[in-house]
Amino acid sequence: MQTVDVLVVGAGLAGLHTARLLAEQGLDVMVVDRRRSLSVGVRTTGIFVRRTLDDFDLPDAALGPGIRDVLLYPPSRRAPIRLTSDRDEYRVADMAAIYEHARRTAESAGARIHLGVRYIEASTGPVRFAGAEPVVARFIIGADGARSRVARDLGLDVNRRFLVGAEIVHPIASRTTVPAFHCVLDPRIAPGYLGWVIDDGWHTHVGVAGYPDAMRTGVRHLLDAFAADAPGRAAPTGPIERRGGPIPVGGVLKRLVCPAGLLVGDAAGAVSPLTAGGLDPCLRMSELAAAVTVAYLRTGDQHVLRAYDGGALRTRFRGRLLLRGIFAGMRSPAAVEAAVAALRGRAGRAVAARILFGDGSFPDVDQRRRTRSAP
Ligand SMILES: Cc1cc2nc3c(=O)[nH]c(=O)nc-3n(C[C@H](O)[C@H](O)[C@H](O)COP(=O)(O)OP(=O)(O)OC[C@H]3O[C@@H](n4cnc5c(N)ncnc54)[C@H](O)[C@@H]3O)c2cc1C
Repeated sequence: MQTVDVLVVGAGLAGLHTARLLAEQGLDVMVVDRRRSLSVGVRTTGIFVRRTLDDFDLPDAALGPGIRDVLLYPPSRRAPIRLTSDRDEYRVADMAAIYEHARRTAESAGARIHLGVRYIEASTGPVRFAGAEPVVARFIIGADGARSRVARDLGLDVNRRFLVGAEIVHPIASRTTVPAFHCVLDPRIAPGYLGWVIDDGWHTHVGVAGYPDAMRTGVRHLLDAFAADAPGRAAPTGPIERRGGPIPVGGVLKRLVCPAGLLVGDAAGAVSPLTAGGLDPCLRMSELAAAVTVAYLRTGDQHVLRAYDGGALRTRFRGRLLLRGIFAGMRSPAAVEAAVAALRGRAGRAVAARILFGDGSFPDVDQRRRTRSAP
């Protein structure tokens, strides 16, 4: 039976980045993903924030134009608040190209990536899959998304609080206007979060996310209703793709690591509870995860695992969790209309700009990091 140093379950951004870092350190790394191709089953809009773009070298050709304007719409959609940054704040990625690039860099570093292989379980003995022979792994990394099986099998914490998001993506004719990020705050279509329209230069993404218990007619129905007259939406010029999935917003989980393995990305709850952005932590937190894994496998010293302590990381999320609680509770259109009105003043605009343009979406978890590498 094959033995590997590290088995990474999940070839999303977190799994591929972690695999690459581990392989670069000379470990024997195998990655499995149930998807047959990394360009299918994409779940994310692919909005990268300035801090991620500054800190990691993402392939420029896979990123859309820089976006500096955000328009915040109240439920009435009247008189949106426009916030303009003096620098590019967001770029929307062609995620299939990002995954493909991450795959190539991980493989160049020596990781072996097997697609079309579903992880079944690892509770007892060798790890079992559908689509491949079992393997013995010294260490398992759960990068298998918001509803992680690996987390369950390793006896680690699992996500319990979710938003559910869905979007449609369609090609557009060449752009004639300045790109902008349209955010609609309306609990009737996006309870506890927002509806969005944004484009990457080639496609428009129109999406909604919210708490599933408040989406009585279902997220798909709400998305279609929103998309019918969403602000800033360009006319489709080709086929429509649908994306979506759960977004864990309960904050980083407490128990993330044990001597048999650890969790990264959505599996670790590594998503900003406030903005629901999870792509930055896929890169940022995976660096700490990889460093801890390398140290542990080299020394066999379980004490090094303490550096990957979800309990300590959670304390950095208190403010964001508090604000998430406030957003979650805003279920009446009148209350949201009033909240948006409060943002029109100078102080309100400063708060909104801080959330939308600040550096605090996801904290630095590894004080030693300042590498500038990424998939
Ligand atoms: C609609 C939507 C829009 C979003 N937009 C943004 C955004 O614009 N910006 C942002 O920062 N964040 C966004 N997010 C959040 C962000 O996409 C995620 O936090 C991030 O993609 C998580 O990456 P990951 O690698 O941890 O997990 P995933 O990308 O979910 O990857 C997990 C992988 O594990 C595989 N897998 C799962 N189970 C198994 C198994 N049993 N066996 C083998 N393989 C398995 C899956 O096939 C998948 O490839 C969005 C989320 C949603 C739902």
